[in-house]
Amino acid sequence: MCGIVGYIGKKPAYPVIINGLKKLEYRGYDSAGISVVDDKVKTYKCKGKIADLEKHIKGKDLNGVIGIGHTRWATHGEPNDTNAHPHKSQHGHFIIIHNGIIENYARLKNKLTEKGYKFNTETDTEVLANLIEHIYLKGKVSAEQAVRLALRKVIGAYGLVIICADEPEQLIAARKGSPLVIGIGEDEYFIASDATPIVEYTKSVVYLNDNNIAIVTKSELSLKTIGNNILTPKIQILDLDIGEIDKGDFEHFMLKEIFEQPRSIQDTFRGRISRERNTIHLGGLHKVMPKLVNARRIIIIGCGTSWHAALIGEYLFEEFARIPVEVEYASEFRYRNPVIHIDDVVIVISQSGETADTLAAVNQAREAGALVLGICNVAGSSIPRETQGGVYTHAGPEIGVASTKAFTAQVTVLTMMAMLIGKKRFILDEKKYEKFITELLRIPSKIEEILKNNDLYKKIAGLYVNSNNFIYLGRGYFFPVALEGALKLKEISYIHAEGYPAAEMKHGPIALIDENMPVVVIAPQDDSYEKIVSNIQEVKARGGIVIAVVNKGDKTISEIADHVFEVPSTVLALAPLLTVIPLQLLSYHIAVKRSCNVDQPRNLAKSVTVE
Ligand code: GLU
Repeated sequence: MCGIVGYIGKKPAYPVIINGLKKLEYRGYDSAGISVVDDKVKTYKCKGKIADLEKHIKGKDLNGVIGIGHTRWATHGEPNDTNAHPHKSQHGHFIIIHNGIIENYARLKNKLTEKGYKFNTETDTEVLANLIEHIYLKGKVSAEQAVRLALRKVIGAYGLVIICADEPEQLIAARKGSPLVIGIGEDEYFIASDATPIVEYTKSVVYLNDNNIAIVTKSELSLKTIGNNILTPKIQILDLDIGEIDKGDFEHFMLKEIFEQPRSIQDTFRGRISRERNTIHLGGLHKVMPKLVNARRIIIIGCGTSWHAALIGEYLFEEFARIPVEVEYASEFRYRNPVIHIDDVVIVISQSGETADTLAAVNQAREAGALVLGICNVAGSSIPRETQGGVYTHAGPEIGVASTKAFTAQVTVLTMMAMLIGKKRFILDEKKYEKFITELLRIPSKIEEILKNNDLYKKIAGLYVNSNNFIYLGRGYFFPVALEGALKLKEISYIHAEGYPAAEMKHGPIALIDENMPVVVIAPQDDSYEKIVSNIQEVKARGGIVIAVVNKGDKTISEIADHVFEVPSTVLALAPLLTVIPLQLLSYHIAVKRSCNVDQPRNLAKSVTVE
């Protein structure tokens, strides 16, 4: 969600910033802008994409080695040229870019209005710019002091980079609830909302913590708390490869990421599963294992696709480890006074590790005394830092807004965790455990097989490109897969889609079925195979179109369904990892045929850092 890039050093700032903003495009945004310190601070901004901003700037003189750039995901005020960042304070002393929300902006705005401030935009960010300026002018303090004092009055979340026109040789960055990372070069620094714009220049970075403020000149980085306590920057080395954030030969990042899944799943279990010894080792859980094995209950928390992975986790933990599981939306959990016991284990799932609601749930669960574990993809992000243990998914950077490889990596981690705990609780016997390990290791090659049918998914997508609605049905492990299939379609093609437990169809959705309704049924052979065959018959009896995901060689459903997507068979608990693949590709091809912006769907953001 919304991106920040700042540069201070010896290179021309404009190309570094534009290039960096392009790397952040995947996060989702609606407008963009840039300010560069030249003979004065020059600002250009507009609604639309980075390409629109480049057109807007073309032919203008924009020299200078210090600057800031922003991609905005509007929260306060519509996406337009005026509301785009950077925002300048009324008397021009401060120029700021901001990710997040200033929750008490209305009260602050009223007070500033009483003091004679006028506002040109509808944003909460302009209020902050004017608040800083007011403190600066009234208190006759330095820019840094003014920022620190202003931030003490702010309620909400922010990642900020600020230029003071009177002290143009420095950038001031501050963070609370919205990530910022500083890259350290030779006589140059980079500031960004995640490491992707930085990695091509340097791998040495410092992640800001909440309530940290950094004052950066081209030769020095000083880090403090908002309360003015000096901190020693903790330099970390990025484990991110620039090649990983390239589309390669693929038309879209989403397609590349779908096709990466055989490798990304392998990366998820690399070094963690030993075929020789038949063991699973998850280092990030080592210390907490006794509490995890004896958990009275597991609560799995996520948002969006991570919530679907969590639902699969519920089936896995209950089947393999016989521990009761509850699955929660982070946004609901945090606001409804949940009952949390000290012997509960809370597992939070977030690709970015920065999801605002999930992060808040972490804090709430920790305060209640539960053991809190994270399953995240982005190393060094906030959730892994705030939790007591966890497992990285190691799927590599996911750039497409619609999550694909992160989902299968999350499910892989949950599977490994459930198997490990199940074994330690003596519920999963040695034979079964060995079989699951063997089958898990076969998943990547089975996904390869499924990907070979890409032309079929494309062809079927072409038949339903003009449908207005879709229903997705599944039972047991495949109900969350149905939800995920429907979500993928909604996100990128803007077709309305609903996921349902197949048996629930009779309780409502069946009324929607007619000859215009494609119904995608996830139906590999399992214990409820006969039942799902009946559900398919019910759809067909009402004229609906059935697209079924079945096991290779399936005879019964192949005869009644309009189209089938075959997947290799595996043990039931692992089949979500296979059955979701054709659904990802079906959505992808429908969206492409509808000329949708697959990697940056409208209104969506990759890393949801606002509540
Ligand atoms: N709340 C700010 C705005 O609406 C910042 C939004 C963002 O995070 O991009 O302008």
